[in-house]
Amino acid sequence: MATVETEALVLRTYNFGEADKIVVVLSQAAGVVRGVANGCRKLKSRFGAALEPFTLTKLTWYEKENKELVSLRQAEIIKSHFDLSSQAETLTGLAYMGDLVIEFSPPHEANDNLFRLVNACLEAIDQAPADIQLVLRYFEIWLLRLQGYLPDIRRCGECHQEFTDTSGIFLNQNLVMRCRSCSQGQGSAVSRKLQIQMRATQKVAPQNFVKASHEVPASVHRELAELTQQLIGRVLERQPRLRSTFQSSVAFEVQAPVQS
Ligand SMILES: [Zn+2]
Repeated sequence: MATVETEALVLRTYNFGEADKIVVVLSQAAGVVRGVANGCRKLKSRFGAALEPFTLTKLTWYEKENKELVSLRQAEIIKSHFDLSSQAETLTGLAYMGDLVIEFSPPHEANDNLFRLVNACLEAIDQAPADIQLVLRYFEIWLLRLQGYLPDIRRCGECHQEFTDTSGIFLNQNLVMRCRSCSQGQGSAVSRKLQIQMRATQKVAPQNFVKASHEVPASVHRELAELTQQLIGRVLERQPRLRSTFQSSVAFEVQAPVQS
């Protein structure tokens, strides 16, 4: 049996047996991991308190070869986001974020950029819960990018010419963005303002993206939400086939905020 000690963010839990839970975490050392926490539902269990969803914990587990479920042994709270769970909309948004991480991440595959992204987004939600939808758009764009599914937003996927202020951009069925001439106007049009908004996600930390987004018209927020939904929908439809062939090649360069 091997012991692993790592920072991990609890994504989802299920009750199991009389007093146990199945816990799904995003860990720094091993990516998405599923484990059994024995006895953690007993009254006043500190172990259980550290395994509430969206808690960042210092987690220790044992793993056996060829067993998908690890055995969770110790959990210490590093940062609790418990205060966020009182608002229904926030809770729904967090659960959505956790589900996307699970859907997009092959189990037991460490991804430090993804780990930092999720923690930075949680911090941003902590600071401005009312802006959770803006943080979720930022998260979606980065998740797509880190997993290799974000189309190139700077140049045409066919003729490779850089998009200019006047080029129309059209997204085709294969998630490729093309110029007007290559696409001949086929596919969904991407507005200039949306391009600028998408680029903004690549340059700044989530808090700053949220602040800058307050200046952006609601129509652009809707357009961005529609685009990310479209991209995520198509990726999830075909993900099993592509899962092993796509590798993240970009770094999540934005510094995660310092925890207070
Ligand atoms: Zn082109």
